[in-house]
Amino acid sequence: MGLEQFKNRNVGTQNYVKLDLPHPPKNGWCAFKQVLSRSLKPELFVGLWVALREMINALFRGQMHTTQYPLEKLPISPRYRAIHEMLRLLESGHYRCIGCGLCEKICIANCITMDTRYDENQRKEVSEYTINFGRCIFCGYCAEVCPELAIVHGGRYETASEQRASFSLFEDMLTPIDKLNLQQEYQGFGAISPNADENIKKTPLAY
Ligand code: SF4
Ligand code: SF4
Repeated sequence: MGLEQFKNRNVGTQNYVKLDLPHPPKNGWCAFKQVLSRSLKPELFVGLWVALREMINALFRGQMHTTQYPLEKLPISPRYRAIHEMLRLLESGHYRCIGCGLCEKICIANCITMDTRYDENQRKEVSEYTINFGRCIFCGYCAEVCPELAIVHGGRYETASEQRASFSLFEDMLTPIDKLNLQQEYQGFGAISPNADENIKKTPLAY
C-alpha cells in the first residue's frame, strides 16, 4: 500500500458492533438492586451445584483430580534439568568422576569448585567437589560435557532449602552405596541416551 493509499484508506465503514450496555446505577438503591439481581441469578446455583458434585466425586467416588503433594509427585521428563547427581560405577561402586575438570571449566555460572589429588596408588581422585546451587542456572552444560557420564541431572526438582550449603557437597549428590542397585543408566539430562550406540556408529572414522 502506497503512502497516498494509506492516507486515504477507508477506516470508517467497518462494521463495528455497538454494545447495548445498561446504564450504570444512579444511586445507592439502584446499585443495591443491581447487586441483588446479579447475585440471585440461576448461574450462581449451577456453579454451587457443580462445585458440590465435584467435591462428592472426589471424596466418596475416588475421582480426585489433584495431586496430593508432597505425598504424591508427578513424574518428570528424563530431560528435565533438576538437582545434579553423581553416579557410581555399577560394577565396583566407585564414583565415576575422574576429576578431569571439564565440568568446572565449562560452567558458565562458575559455581563448580573441585580439587584432585593422587591416592596411594598414584591414581587421581577427587578430593573436593561442590556445586553452589545458589549460583547454578541449571543450564546442563556440566552434564553434557562429562566424558564419564558421572554427573547427570537427576529427578530431585525441589530446590528450596533452609541452608545455602544443602545439596552442594559431592557426597550429597553421590548415589548412596546401599542404593547402587537402584541407580539407572539413563537417569536424566546428560546421561547416556537410549540410542547412543546408533549415534556412535554414525561417527566417521576418517577425518
Ligand atoms: S548446570 Fe550449568 S550452571 Fe549449573 S553447575 Fe552445571 S554448568 Fe554450572
Ligand atoms: S566432567 Fe565429569 S568426570 Fe570430569 S570432573 Fe566433571 S563430573 Fe568428573
